[in-house]
This record gives sequence, C-alpha cells and structure tokens, in this order.
Amino acid sequence: DFAPQLAQLQQQARRRRRVAHASACSTQLQVDGVDYLAFASNDYLGLANHPQLIAAAQAGAARWGVGAGSAHLVAGHSLAHEQLERRLAQFVGLADALLFATGYMANLALITALLGRGDAVFADRLNHASLNDACLLARADFKRYPHNDLQRLESLLAASKAPRKLIVADAVFSMDGDLAPLDALLALAGRYDAWLYLDDAHGFGVLGAHGQGSLAHWRLQSPRLIYMATLGKAAGVAGAFVAASADLIDWLVNKAHTYIYTTAQPPLLAEALMQSIELIEHEDWRRERLTSLIVQLRQGCADLPWRLLPSPTPIQPLQVGSSEAALDLAAGLRRQGIWVPAIRPPTVPDGEARLRISLSAAHTPDDVERLLAALQDLGQRALA
Ligand SMILES: *Cc1c(COP(=O)(O)O)cnc(C)c1O
Repeated sequence: DFAPQLAQLQQQARRRRRVAHASACSTQLQVDGVDYLAFASNDYLGLANHPQLIAAAQAGAARWGVGAGSAHLVAGHSLAHEQLERRLAQFVGLADALLFATGYMANLALITALLGRGDAVFADRLNHASLNDACLLARADFKRYPHNDLQRLESLLAASKAPRKLIVADAVFSMDGDLAPLDALLALAGRYDAWLYLDDAHGFGVLGAHGQGSLAHWRLQSPRLIYMATLGKAAGVAGAFVAASADLIDWLVNKAHTYIYTTAQPPLLAEALMQSIELIEHEDWRRERLTSLIVQLRQGCADLPWRLLPSPTPIQPLQVGSSEAALDLAAGLRRQGIWVPAIRPPTVPDGEARLRISLSAAHTPDDVERLLAALQDLGQRALA
C-alpha cells in the first residue's frame, strides 16, 4: 500500500506531479488554457520546434516509415543512423560514434561495458542520476568525490589498486550549470592511468565556437577521453551518442546491453538530427543570443533576496533553500504568467531546492525582462 508513503512525500513537499501541457516545445507553455512564458526546457538553441527539423522528420518518415522495426544488430540499423554517427564523430573530433535511444541508456552502456567487479569508478557527487545508476550496475568499486574537489579525487585515485579506473563527470552540471574542470580531470587521468568519461548533455550545441561541445571549449584531445552527449536537449530531438576510438565503439556494439537489446531509434529522428547538426554548426547567432541573455539575467538578479548560483551556461539556478519555499516561489511566478520549475531533493542536495531557470535562444530580451520584473516584485514581497 503506497498511500502512506505518498502522503509522507506530500508532507515533505517532495511529491512530484506531472503537468500535461498543450503546446509544442517553445518558450510558451499552455496549461489548462492559460499561456505561460516558460524558462523550463533544455531546448537551449530553440531547435525542438524548428521548421527545418520538422520538414526533415517528415521527409524521413516518408522515406523510412515510422519505426526502426528491430534492434541495430538485428535489422534496425539504417543508412540514416550510419550517416548520423559519422557526422557526430567528425563534429566532436573523435574517431567513431555510436547512437543510443536515450542518454540514460548511453550512460548505462558505456560504464557497464567498460567496468566490472574489481575495477574502480570515481564520480563527482553532483553527477546525473543515470551515471550513478550505471556505476552501481557495473558492480565496480564506486567512489564519489565532493563536487569538483580535485584534491579529494586525486587522493582516491592514488589509493586505488584497481586494474581499470574510470573518472566520470558531467561536463556541465545539470542542476547547477557550472563546468567540470576538464583540463585538470584529464591531467589526473593521465597521472593515474585512468579513463575520463564525460557526459556533455548540457554542453553539446551550447559550448565550443560552433557548438561542438565541451571538448572544443576546453580544446582537449586524448586517447583517454570517452565522450557522450544527448540529442534531446540543445539538438532538439531525442537520443544520444558515445564518441571514442573505433575499437571502443566496436566493443560497445558487442557488449553494451542497452545498445544490443533495444529497438533502434526511428531513422526519421536521425534525419531530423542531421538537419539539427547543420543548424548547430552554422547558426552561431543562437549561441551569441544565449550569451547576451545570460548576462542580462545575471545582472538583473544581483539584488534579489535569493542567490543566483555562478553559472556561465543557460542553466541559471536561483537557490531558494527549502522545498516549500521553492514551490512557493514557482507558484508566485506562475500567478504572474511565468513557468519556472522548482527542483527539489533528491534531485539536488537537502536544503538546496532551487528554481532552475533555463534560457533558450528562442527567448527574447523582453522575455528575460518580464522574468526579472516578476522576480523583483516577489523579492520585495518576501522582504516586506
Ligand atoms: C538529461 C541527461 C541525461 C539523460 O539523457 P536522456 O537522453 O534524457 O535520457 C544524462 N546525463 C545528463 C547530465 C542529463 O542532463
């Protein structure tokens, strides 16, 4: 009987409820017939509803049908998937790439295919839940270090006698928006003979001169690097890929359960993604727009009673504290026609509930101004 447990979640302000909306992904969210200005999606470049992606998906459906029909190793692997994998590998500067249906599955795949009992994995405490689940599933020795604490990481690495070591981090942290120090992580990987696996779900498309992601941003190249990015965030569609050496990709094709035992992503999505990569690479204005919106938002939040955590990315977390206070602030914004999600434990640590403001190139400076005016109004009332 789950009723008492659900009631307890309710009492702790931790019960989650879904809201069904009636809008295509954009900066507007229509809920119960009301239009809200939304700062809620991970569609950072505004591509999820782009006419060229829609046209590519439609042409892809006409060419390939709707479903892939089977797993990649059975008969689900199309030329559309193959072409996209080559394009992605070339775009991020690695030898080869492998497509997955979701980022969650890509993380499970890589970590379980690389590590087993007796191996060791070193993970940032703020890593995404899918990475943590993957580490547990791999049955490796699972060591977590405090967020971006390189000294602690180094002492854990130095103490490990595991035959295979893997350092795992979000390249951009999903609820904080800050970056992992990839240059320092790679140096430690070299010193202690470890692999470095980077989850760039929030950097791909956003960072790097043309959106190639965190490796380009940090100008990193190394045979120790294994890269993963998702395709449902800035790329605006769905899916994910791992990029690495050709041998490692071949190993995943042979060993990764979440690649082998699941139906291939519909090829029409691969067609939409080819178009998405074109726009990511060539429309630098989307990243320039994001940069100016980030500056505008951060300046406008300077004297609010809540702290905007330091973040150079479109993820701008306004730290509130308790779950109740975060829900109250989100409700206050909603009364002013603005939708910003409150993020509560266990997604973030206890006492660190926040509003996760996410910006998109589809937002205008006026949109950000409206959000700032509403926050200032609620801030004054909170202080009064
Ligand atoms: C969203 C996300 C994932 C999961 O990707 P999906 O494609 O949504 O399954 C993995 N890692 C991070 C850091 C994410 O933010």
